[in-house]
Amino acid sequence: MTARMLIGGEWTASVGGRTFETIDPATGEVLDLVPEGTAADVDAAVSAAAKAFEAPEWGGMLPAARARLLWRIADLIEEHGDELARLETRDQGQPLAISSGISVPNAVEHFRYYAGWATKLHGLTVPVSIPGVDYRNHREPLGVCGLITPWNFPLMIAAWKLAPALVTGNTVVLKPAEQTPLSTLRLAELCLEAGVPSGVLNVVTGGPEVGRAIVRHPKVAKISFTGSTEVGREIAAEAGRRLARVSLELGGKAPSIITPDADIDAILEGNIMGGLLNCGQVCAAYTRFYVDHKRSGEFAEKIAAIAGGMHLGNGLDPSTHLGPLVSQEQLDRVDRYVRAGEAAGATLVTGGSRADGDLAGGFFYRPTVFAGVDDSMTIAREEIFGPVLSVIAYEDVAELAGRANDTEYGLAAVVWSRDIGTANRLARQIRAGTVWINLPPFLDAAAPWGGMKASGVGREMGWEAIASYTDIKSVWTSLA
Ligand code: NAD
Repeated sequence: MTARMLIGGEWTASVGGRTFETIDPATGEVLDLVPEGTAADVDAAVSAAAKAFEAPEWGGMLPAARARLLWRIADLIEEHGDELARLETRDQGQPLAISSGISVPNAVEHFRYYAGWATKLHGLTVPVSIPGVDYRNHREPLGVCGLITPWNFPLMIAAWKLAPALVTGNTVVLKPAEQTPLSTLRLAELCLEAGVPSGVLNVVTGGPEVGRAIVRHPKVAKISFTGSTEVGREIAAEAGRRLARVSLELGGKAPSIITPDADIDAILEGNIMGGLLNCGQVCAAYTRFYVDHKRSGEFAEKIAAIAGGMHLGNGLDPSTHLGPLVSQEQLDRVDRYVRAGEAAGATLVTGGSRADGDLAGGFFYRPTVFAGVDDSMTIAREEIFGPVLSVIAYEDVAELAGRANDTEYGLAAVVWSRDIGTANRLARQIRAGTVWINLPPFLDAAAPWGGMKASGVGREMGWEAIASYTDIKSVWTSLA
């Protein structure tokens, strides 16, 4: 079977007809062939999106109708939830518990949340101090938005971008990651079924060259990118050259701060979830575990015992806790970091190798815990994006904010404490877009999400996403 991409309402092969393979990471087998888009395909998709943006059918759609359209998309995702979850699991590797328990419902909730905004995009009348004039402002869509997504949560992250882009009246060229295009293509089919007009949503599949062509296209008014900090820098530079709007959700290296009074047994589960959800392929993954030096050994042993006992397997098997990494490339990258940790003198407590036996055909890596990690080690500084947890000892709570902040990243952090004063003081001191207190990493469509420092620019979710997909226009009227 060969998948098709969506341009101007038509399901199509790429110009030139080339394809690439998308692989099932649990088996290493080819799942599907997918069109390898070209700059010419991007140009056709942008032209279709630009035309659809001008069409009265889209621009003139009444707010209540737009709300119903987004709600219908949500209903269709929900109706096809089992199918989408299985597709996501096969293409991405995440266990069904994640694809059906997080990815699908979170995508549904994003469309429902933004459906509600359709009828609430008010402007303001503002009392300006100039006699004889009336002032008001309102929000307008930007035009064609280029949405570029990563491979860790393809369906969910597509929804994070698509729902606010559509509710504000933009049109879209969406590029899923080359490792995991299938759930996005199915989502696009459901959007058409819900009644999204031709050309409003276009999907071009392919790798970095397709992404670059979208970013460089002069008719793309805004780029919303989720992915690595390295690529984010390149996109920001290109967007800067032609002054396109840009929002960037980039990498992270979240600290998990465990204060001396924390109940270690009670917080293990939340830390395992924070560190190993989706095999650690989570931008907000808890990776640097700061534990009081008197208890760091105990914490490392206890968390390693749970991690080491987790069931690795094909995500389609309901008993699986941890699925495979997304690709051979990612597996090699994780393994390089683990070797670097050992070489730097960290103590390997559990894991540290690829899984073998029945799992040798897939990209499975055993959950890995290091103790005796130092802030300067590569494993404590760089984003690994795999199942590797580093336990780092501290002497005094006063060191914690400085050490947590000693990173180029600022996406997320968590504090575990029984003392609300200490927890909230740390939450204020930490430079991160999100700080959780005594929680695994939760997200909600209503709560702004994004990073400080090298973790990004702008915010998704909540009102902030509406603002980022619109421009504000001031209208001044003479009362004379
Ligand atoms: P990546 O940067 O390699 O690729 C992301 C997307 O960009 C893919 O679709 C890819 O094809 C495309 N791309 C690659 N090079 C490009 C270029 N030069 N111009 C335009 N597009 C280009 O990232 P990845 O490996 O797919 O994803 C993992 C990264 O994503 C991690 O760093 C992770 O932290 C980050 N991430 C961040 C968030 C967040 O909300 N902050 C969420 C998920 C993932």
